[in-house]
Amino acid sequence: MKTFRNFIAGEWVAPSSGEYFENRNPADTTDVIGRFPLSTAADVDRAVASAKRGFREWSRTPAPARGDVLRRVGDLLSQRKDEIADLMTREMGKPVAETKGDVQEGIDTAYYAASEGRRLFGHTVPSELRDKWAMSFRRPIGVAGIITPFNFPLAIPTWKMFPALLCGNACIFKPAEDVPHTGTVFVEILLEAGLPPEVIQLVHGVGEQEGKAIVDHPEIPLISFTGSTETGRIVGETAGRMHKRLSLEMGGKNAQIVMDDANLELALEGVLWGAFGTTGQRCTATSRLILQKGIHDRFLGMLVDKAKSLKLGDGRKEGTDIGPLVSRNALEKVERYIDIGQSEGNDLLCGGRRATGKGLDKGFFFEPTIFARVEAGQRLEQEEIFGPVLSVSDADEAFRVNNDVKYGLSSSIYTTNVQDAFRAMNELENGITYVNAPTIGAEAHLPFGGVKQTGNGHREGGWEVYEFYSETKVGYVDFSGRLQRAQIDNYLGTPD
Ligand code: NAD
Repeated sequence: MKTFRNFIAGEWVAPSSGEYFENRNPADTTDVIGRFPLSTAADVDRAVASAKRGFREWSRTPAPARGDVLRRVGDLLSQRKDEIADLMTREMGKPVAETKGDVQEGIDTAYYAASEGRRLFGHTVPSELRDKWAMSFRRPIGVAGIITPFNFPLAIPTWKMFPALLCGNACIFKPAEDVPHTGTVFVEILLEAGLPPEVIQLVHGVGEQEGKAIVDHPEIPLISFTGSTETGRIVGETAGRMHKRLSLEMGGKNAQIVMDDANLELALEGVLWGAFGTTGQRCTATSRLILQKGIHDRFLGMLVDKAKSLKLGDGRKEGTDIGPLVSRNALEKVERYIDIGQSEGNDLLCGGRRATGKGLDKGFFFEPTIFARVEAGQRLEQEEIFGPVLSVSDADEAFRVNNDVKYGLSSSIYTTNVQDAFRAMNELENGITYVNAPTIGAEAHLPFGGVKQTGNGHREGGWEVYEFYSETKVGYVDFSGRLQRAQIDNYLGTPD
């Protein structure tokens, strides 16, 4: 079995514990990808000491030159897109068409970041005093702790690390334990593109141990975390106590609303892709469908037929629509929610069980599942399941039902009525609202994130994220040759 290593202080090294964990293919658990380091706080300490050295040099490298490195990363990702997609599907299951999209998001993010190296704008504003200039500009922060989930093994690390690096920070990267291979290949590419070795540290391990050590470390002033709302709360408590700069991107319970006047064929394609793409394991997955009464029965009939026809299988095989869940834990969580849905008295229209049959018995496959007549407030309607489970309700007050959950990532409305479309953008309590498109489909050059318990007010992607990874500094230059007292000398009035 192949043994992988951490990348610390410019070298590929074994963990100080000498211990490893196995990484297996969720579509066929007899296929072992390799064993990866079980790192501890001691490894994180070494990584931080090195990253601080890397930071000193990198933060002085001009931002356009930092951008050039990221442009080369984009080129390498483009050249190796198919190979990376294949290895990503092998370790986390989603079909290759989707993992190619994941790599493409990384490529788009790289080129956007490269161009930001020639912007990173500050402001030059008039001073209130004569012969004085006033300006703001951006400074890097230091060592950034980057903690990422399994479902976008490449795209999410790039959303975080490219802007962090472009702004001049060094990174300690902890990929999710389900996707350490993609994390390793990503770091190899950063190095091949010319990133100075001490600027990036890769430390594999489990969240409660090594992830926690990153969050706890006093010399990591910035943490960027994407994962569940439960883990985010733990991370947030520590970061708050230690006054760290923190970006949290967490869970979702996203709804697609279909109005009576919608194009139903379009809405059908949208919900199938939104609910069952990535086996429902997207933060933006459609896990609730809110149908207006006039089209409810008809649309549900169309939907169940199509859901039953989706083809489950190994995501690396041609023709597969839906891959496995990422792990046994994920599968068991979905099974628990099937029991909850049934005990709440909802109509199970299809699915609801593990998928079996040729090519499925060795993996974590689960049938696309639809529950109907789910009432607002039930657990199935409120809690993030992170699997191929869709709750359907009919509602006159679709907007209120959409808003009545603790999460607020994305929402979607299908309608041909322009008033309803714009009202939805104003009134749905989410970071993103799609009109006539599913709840998934963010583009790399726009801000991404959610409100309420999905986030803590920051955004990834687009232009806003550069503010998170840099500090605003202000400079005043007085060339009057005399002491000028702000708010005083300029209000003395006209001398007699
Ligand atoms: P998770 O919370 O289990 O793990 C996320 C990361 O945190 C992993 O790297 C894990 O090892 C680490 N971790 C776990 N415990 C930790 C601790 N105590 N201290 C520090 N790090 C710790 O999430 P997951 O199962 O990998 O991903 C699924 C979740 O991520 C879902 O809730 C999903 O909605 C969310 N997600 C959100 C977004 C978004 O942008 N809002 C995007 C993707 C996924």
